[in-house]
Amino acid sequence: MKPVLIIGAGPVGLAAALFLTRRGVPVRIVDADTAPSETSRALGINPRTLALLSDTGVTAAILAEAQPIRALSLHHHGQPLAKIALNAAALGADHPMVILPQARSEAHLTEALSALGVRVERGRAVASLAQDATAASAVMTDGEVIDAPVVFAADGAHSVARHALGIDFSGDGWPEPWHLMDVDLDGPPADEGWIDFQPDGGFICLPFSGRMFRLFSFGRPLLERVPADWRVGAVHWQSEFKVSHRIASRLSSGRIALGGDAAHIHSPVGARGMNLGIEDAYVFAACCADFLNGETGRLEDYHRLRHPVDAAVVRNVRTLTSFVRNTGPLADLAKRTLPPIAARLPFVINRALRVGMGLDHPVRLR
Ligand SMILES: Cc1cc2nc3c(=O)[nH]c(=O)nc-3n(C[C@H](O)[C@H](O)[C@H](O)COP(=O)(O)OP(=O)(O)OC[C@H]3O[C@@H](n4cnc5c(N)ncnc54)[C@H](O)[C@@H]3O)c2cc1C
Repeated sequence: MKPVLIIGAGPVGLAAALFLTRRGVPVRIVDADTAPSETSRALGINPRTLALLSDTGVTAAILAEAQPIRALSLHHHGQPLAKIALNAAALGADHPMVILPQARSEAHLTEALSALGVRVERGRAVASLAQDATAASAVMTDGEVIDAPVVFAADGAHSVARHALGIDFSGDGWPEPWHLMDVDLDGPPADEGWIDFQPDGGFICLPFSGRMFRLFSFGRPLLERVPADWRVGAVHWQSEFKVSHRIASRLSSGRIALGGDAAHIHSPVGARGMNLGIEDAYVFAACCADFLNGETGRLEDYHRLRHPVDAAVVRNVRTLTSFVRNTGPLADLAKRTLPPIAARLPFVINRALRVGMGLDHPVRLR
């Protein structure tokens, strides 16, 4: 059998390659970039992802290096509102919520893959895709044509595959730039997330590694939002991004499937992006292996199983981010009054925690 082609060696493509290889399915994985990304980007790894990767050795490697995050401290205009414990065990999870830069998670996935004999083909970009009833084929920018029984496109938000298939990516985008910074700080707790509902929008600070913290918000410069009694040190990385919430109308078409940011994008609030994509990869691997064993409907199943889950996460993250983003007297009143009430109602807080930890739905393979 020819290998399944995976486009993109971000976390989702790497996870798909790993899950497929472990199921005995041969793969080729190509990436346009000549070297792995070194940026921190997605920091939060949730208990669901750690459970899905636990048989691969990647979970143990991540847990040996990652920093646990134990609570979220909520503030309003700098004054404490509520503290919410991030107790995954209390929600029935086997693993905690941890923090690790995306580049390190990708390195662990790459290592596990290479231990199984699979090497990422770097500097290899797909220019276009086609398919008929018997195979799919990718034309590379260097002219090579790769034929494959199935293609998994994990080629990010601007997916060539999604465009080639003419799949709609509907949703909306917000106009304002959001700022992100990894910076050394003295002041915030080292194992808690810190959210301040400031008059002009929410400000979020996450512990990262040692004295390093991730800040993000929009509008005013981030360092103007930092509490006066925190000491600011070296800035390690900063970036700006626009927030959109979009979902592909189909996650598979014939022999080509989409996963991760190619299929859905949303704000980083809730730390779901990379985690949700790795879950796509897990379900895709099961469906694809069955398809190659003759169960013809299984790639359609992938769409049927994942689309409602991914769409619900995009919707929930949009609602959560709107709460953080909205300004004005009514929004401000809601931010001051609702979190302390919710923190005292276990069924409300557990529901919110399940969303943040990726435990808000079962992972269905059928
Ligand atoms: C600044 C920033 C901050 C973020 N912060 C967070 C966060 O805090 N929490 C969170 O959960 N998420 C965050 N995200 C989102 C998270 O990084 C993504 O959800 C995650 O990377 C998605 O993984 P992916 O594998 O689907 O796509 P990507 O990581 O985008 O990987 C796609 C890969 O495909 C390759 N590729 C693209 N086109 C082609 C082609 N034609 N041929 C071959 N290869 C191709 C690219 O080179 C790339 O390596 C952040 C993103 C950014 C940009």
